[in-house]
Amino acid sequence: MSRCYARKGRFAFPQVQERLNWCYEQSKRDDFADRLVDELYRKGVLLMRWHCAGDIYCPAYARKMLDVMVRSPHTSFWCYTRSWRVPTISLILKELSLVPNMKLWLSADAETGYPDEVPENARVAWMQTSVDEDVGDSDLVFLDHPLRKLTLPLHVLEKACPTETPEGKKKGTTCATCRYCWTE
Ligand code: SF4
Repeated sequence: MSRCYARKGRFAFPQVQERLNWCYEQSKRDDFADRLVDELYRKGVLLMRWHCAGDIYCPAYARKMLDVMVRSPHTSFWCYTRSWRVPTISLILKELSLVPNMKLWLSADAETGYPDEVPENARVAWMQTSVDEDVGDSDLVFLDHPLRKLTLPLHVLEKACPTETPEGKKKGTTCATCRYCWTE
């Protein structure tokens, strides 16, 4: 996707690319879940977002995520994914959405369309790239950069991530003060 934030900015730095590749390689290991469960416990991690870049790339990896979250009840997780379009992964997303310490977001945009089916407890985050797009029943709207400077319809503004709206910026809203994505 050309608008993907993970294709530009700091994500293009060689050091960041190297680290992301390292993470990907770790995720393929048979002992990935055991090691991550141990690390989350040792470090006392209370909150973890899966994938600041990348996505759920195969069913086996989705199963490892499930294993980690079930075995780490002290940690709250959240995740945005476009892999709801892959039938073999979407079946596991239904299970992920039911894990009590997980908040699952289906990422959608004009390219993917609105998901036909949204698992119980999952929500939809829409990446809006033009003013007149229909955001459907989305629970959250992320605004592409040029839109952040434009006047948007109220029904879009009400759902927009507050770090991207003039009002939210004025208040100095951050994820730490908003918390919408991993609560509610
Ligand atoms: S927690 Fe709030 S500020 Fe952070 S991405 Fe989610 S909606 Fe935006």
